[in-house]
Amino acid sequence: MGNQHVAAAGARTTPPAIAGCPEMSSAAPGSASDVVILGGGIAGIAAALELLDAGRSVTLVESRNFLGGRAFSFTDTNTGVALDNGQHVIVGCCAEFIAFLDRLGVRDRWFLQERLRIPVFSRNGKRGDLAASRLPSPLHLLPSFLAYPHLSLSDKLRALWGMARARFTNRDALELEDVTFYQWLRGNGQPERAINNLWNLVVEPTLNDNVREVSAAMGLMIVQEGMLSSVSSGNLGYARGDLLASIGEPARRMLEERGATLLLGDAVRGLEVSLEPKGGGECGSVAAVELASGRRVVGGEFVSALPFSALLRLLPPEVAGLEFFTRIGRLEWSPILNVHVQYDRPVMDLPFCALVDSPLQWVFNRNAIAGDPTGGGQLVTISVSAAWDFIGLPREELAPMFLAEMAAAFPAAGEASVLNVTVVKQREATFRCLPGAGRLRPDPVTPLSNLFLAGEWTNTGWPSTMEGAVRSGQQAARAVSRKSRL
Ligand SMILES: Cc1cc2nc3c(=O)[nH]c(=O)nc-3n(C[C@H](O)[C@H](O)[C@H](O)COP(=O)(O)OP(=O)(O)OC[C@H]3O[C@@H](n4cnc5c(N)ncnc54)[C@H](O)[C@@H]3O)c2cc1C
Repeated sequence: MGNQHVAAAGARTTPPAIAGCPEMSSAAPGSASDVVILGGGIAGIAAALELLDAGRSVTLVESRNFLGGRAFSFTDTNTGVALDNGQHVIVGCCAEFIAFLDRLGVRDRWFLQERLRIPVFSRNGKRGDLAASRLPSPLHLLPSFLAYPHLSLSDKLRALWGMARARFTNRDALELEDVTFYQWLRGNGQPERAINNLWNLVVEPTLNDNVREVSAAMGLMIVQEGMLSSVSSGNLGYARGDLLASIGEPARRMLEERGATLLLGDAVRGLEVSLEPKGGGECGSVAAVELASGRRVVGGEFVSALPFSALLRLLPPEVAGLEFFTRIGRLEWSPILNVHVQYDRPVMDLPFCALVDSPLQWVFNRNAIAGDPTGGGQLVTISVSAAWDFIGLPREELAPMFLAEMAAAFPAAGEASVLNVTVVKQREATFRCLPGAGRLRPDPVTPLSNLFLAGEWTNTGWPSTMEGAVRSGQQAARAVSRKSRL
């Protein structure tokens, strides 16, 4: 391949003449100390903070006019209430995300249980709790598990055997990447009811896919890290307010205070790449990124913290066709549906609960979580993971279906008046941890010498979570620093 400049379709290869702003960078244009970050989700924010700590100057480009990416909130035009795109939950083992909150100075805006307790209802109202006792790990869940009403005694004995097997299985064994967690569970004696009412209850909301779809490696990761690693690893938490106030806004303030240049509301339209064969598997470098406004941003290094599908669209075809990038293109998305219902009176007392045999899956009482956002009445958020059966249906069908389910599960909901229903569909909510997906996730270093990858879909060992996003941003920033030292 000769020395040539290429750009993604629709992008310009020469800077446009825009009065006052022909070329942008955070320090001297093109200076090697400049790092340009594409995407202002949690991964981009984490990368920016790490690079600022390392003394680099940072320019961050984000297509929307706020930070936070897939963890965002918006004002409902019907009610004026701030709603999250989807209820976001953390667990005690999300150590890097919790440290990230500390760093943003917003740890107190997030609640984290001191001891795990998940109320689990069946559709006919029978309640059982999965809760941590004072016993040491991994026995801490045992008392609540023995009393758990959604499994028979023989299911429980087999589930205990499955837990013991899960604890002592090396999830990094190569063959576990190629089979589903369901196959692993069946192979380890798990009956269908234990799979549905216990294993899937934990796996589906965390991996946003059914146990029948995800790899055994990732299913085991969830069980080992979230349930068995320590007494506090599964403690549940969430933002006490809306996500924008709990991540995006504080991050914007902090990055601005620390001198980062934020280009918000301006989408990257293409990467301008200079192709030239180099040693070590590298085949060129990024010269600049072209923005929708016509700006051309140059820099020493570029960190893409974009979703994989967005990144692939921005690469010039010659680059997108490299095996490194075509492999990434085989990753897939899984959808999440959130239904926000505003009632005229309280319909549930608990802050949240899970349901084993209902499409409601998880229901969150936003009054208990975020104060009363409605000014009277109650706002509940129904969170449906792996929402394949619902994502294509219109709001007019979804709203009555979920209201009927609420009335079946919560008698008070059947008597209350519904003031508003807002349905939020996120088709590209999380990348799928299907068998083999682990091998498609790249490390931060790419064949372009100064392009680094972040984003929760990169190779972090974590599923599509805020924890994974923070880790990916840190990994990419450290790869930039390592490269600069060479
Ligand atoms: C409904 C829902 C519920 C979820 N629930 C949970 C949960 O309970 N717990 C949990 O840990 N995780 C949850 N997640 C997943 C979590 O939100 C994501 O894994 C995480 O936010 C991903 O962060 P990221 O920075 O890697 O990517 P993103 O947040 O996708 O950030 C990428 C950024 O790039 C920007 N961008 C895209 N294209 C361009 C362009 N051309 N130019 C410039 N900018 C661009 C986007 O606007 C975005 O801000 C949920 C996700 C959804 C959608």
